[in-house]
Amino acid sequence: MAMATHDSGARWKTFLSEAKEQEITLLLSRQTASPVIDVSFHELTGFDPEFAEEILISPRLIISSGHKILSEICRDRGVDLDAMIRLSDLPKDTMRPLREIGSRDIDKLRSLDVIVTKMSQLKPRIHLAVFQCENCGETQQIDQTNESELVEPIRCPPDTGCGASIRGNDSTRFNLVMNISRMINNQWLEIQELPENVPSGAQPSRAQVLLEGDLVNKHLPGQRITANVIPVVRSEIKKNKKTPMFDIIYHMVSSTHESVPFTEIKISDEERAQIEDVAATDNLLQLMGNSIAPSIFANDKLRLIKRSLVLQLFGGVRRKTSDNNYLRGDIHILLMGDPGVAKSQLLNYMSNISPRGKFATGGGTTGAGLTAAAIRDTFGDGRFALEAGVLPLSDRGLAAIDEFDKISNEDKGSMHPAMEQQRIYVAKGGITATLPARCAILAAANPKGGRFSNRNENSSIMTSFEETGLPYPLASRFDLLWLIRDETETNTDTKIARHILNIRTSSVNENRSQDIDFETEREEGDNIFSTGVDGKKHLTMEFLRKYVAFAKRNYFPNLNEKAKLAIEEYYVSVRNDTAKQDRSAGAFENESEKDRVIPITARAIEALIRLTEAHARMHLKQVADETDANVALAVYKHWRDDSRIEDEAELQSGLSASKRNINQSIRKIIREICEERGGEAEITLIYNRARDFGIVESQVDDVISSMSINGEIYTPRGGTYRFAR
Ligand code: ADP
Ligand code: MG
Repeated sequence: MAMATHDSGARWKTFLSEAKEQEITLLLSRQTASPVIDVSFHELTGFDPEFAEEILISPRLIISSGHKILSEICRDRGVDLDAMIRLSDLPKDTMRPLREIGSRDIDKLRSLDVIVTKMSQLKPRIHLAVFQCENCGETQQIDQTNESELVEPIRCPPDTGCGASIRGNDSTRFNLVMNISRMINNQWLEIQELPENVPSGAQPSRAQVLLEGDLVNKHLPGQRITANVIPVVRSEIKKNKKTPMFDIIYHMVSSTHESVPFTEIKISDEERAQIEDVAATDNLLQLMGNSIAPSIFANDKLRLIKRSLVLQLFGGVRRKTSDNNYLRGDIHILLMGDPGVAKSQLLNYMSNISPRGKFATGGGTTGAGLTAAAIRDTFGDGRFALEAGVLPLSDRGLAAIDEFDKISNEDKGSMHPAMEQQRIYVAKGGITATLPARCAILAAANPKGGRFSNRNENSSIMTSFEETGLPYPLASRFDLLWLIRDETETNTDTKIARHILNIRTSSVNENRSQDIDFETEREEGDNIFSTGVDGKKHLTMEFLRKYVAFAKRNYFPNLNEKAKLAIEEYYVSVRNDTAKQDRSAGAFENESEKDRVIPITARAIEALIRLTEAHARMHLKQVADETDANVALAVYKHWRDDSRIEDEAELQSGLSASKRNINQSIRKIIREICEERGGEAEITLIYNRARDFGIVESQVDDVISSMSINGEIYTPRGGTYRFAR
């Protein structure tokens, strides 16, 4: 054993009393949340380089001797504490990919960049056990460093006790004295290597980490952390027998939680300059739009959709209100469409291009599903553990959820708050936690009936939303909802066919596995631009990914006055227009409030702000001005026209404007008849007139029955109706 190891007690004592006096005083005042002193490895290296080196080699012994010395120092000064040292700030060369940890790393200090996927309930553990000899009553203490077995004494110490052992003639037994043994909270975490470090096609490596004391409940599932750990081995047990194979588990030494997002994407100075150059090009949105899934042929509609996806990639700015609420900045988009219109392809591409993007299938997510789940016995102890689902794991990124219509009922319920507050509140199996889920959601949904029915020209997109079977209020959580039809347009069909034929037969990329559908011809020696089969110039995937990370990391645009004014003017004008239409259509003044058309709601303003911010961010601007607002407005107006949203309340209630128009029309008809016929309307007359408006009898029946229940109308004689007032 090296010199520094066996005199580590003395070395700690010198270091702590000379360099950490202030921290110790603070500890003794008991004003810190937990009895812990943070020791930076670099600081220790400066103080005693030989000792610091030694810690890397025998971390377990030296760190636990540090705990002892620190506790001793406290005790000497009259405060009984189980004080601990948290060694942080490890040298770069301790960093390892989780999948490469092996025999050479056992019992060494290692750093891992990982994402937390599960967290167990707390469990107290004895870390210092006190045993009493049955024979003589003498006690002895044993440090418990192995979490999987309790180490018991074999012999009573002959110097202070009777010297009897557990075997032999004058044998004794030892009893654990609980009330003077020292306990500490323990917790298991499951960690996974970062998705972006997983070789393509491979499953991410996982591992279990034991943490204790102040580290307990510090991290939540979904968080990305740097875990400083000591890998230790535990015998694998098969059929109740120990085997020569070992499992590695990790003891946590300290940890940090990322403060700057997307550090996993490295951007060189040269790349930064390239990004800034591209940001200054004309018609950037068009270039970006062409870069989204270039292999997917875009007709006018898809072109518009791709642009909205660009804005989603950049996203708006998350803000905290004065009353501590968060306003989401992420833009949520729903793609509804017939089968085979490239929805899955778009989602796949978006999850690949977005930093922290994740692709999931609504029906196929196992375990924690989209949000979170409490799962029993994950850590083999029969207790509950909290497991993060897709959304918390995509925190600060994008979650692409295919077959959104097939998500479980449980997920349907929790999606709604998850999309708005971007937090997932869990209270299950004795665990309560709030997991952050600050991600943009791009969902794709198919119709229940295989294909969307042909809706008439004027029906709104909600008619299609209904066909997906998703609950109504969810619609209002999406900033934009698109419907992609598989339409027969000879013109476009020819183009798509030609396009697909070109892609499938172009000879490049045969050896690329994942990117085969995304990347087309790369310009020689250029990692920024590429040309699609349609001859259009676009950005390469890697470059766009860096661009997005760079913009999201550095730009948090605020709207200036002119931008706000542009949005405000649009909002007011839409509201006024409808008010005018209502009057000219002669809507009845005493129409009940809930039947009035609400053309646009605050929801739209928020969506517009996000789109405006996203556009400014794409241009690497810290201020969003009226040009940004105007593009956002153009995209939004296009979407509204395309979706025939005339009544935003419909997104909430699912009761379409047209349905409510039916309501209104039938009321109007009854009223007219009553005016003509001395206050009474006969049902056959109502049916007849309704038919002129394309309203069928069953619809009339529905409305009449609800009006009767409300007490709006009553029946003086069979088959006739009168207004109650
Ligand atoms: P969906 O998820 O909408 O059912 P997919 O994404 O699975 O559709 O697409 C089906 C196939 O059709 C894919 O191979 C896709 O590349 C191709 N495809 C559909 N529409 C287009 C298009 N506009 N341009 C190029 N390929 C298309
Ligand atoms: Mg699909």
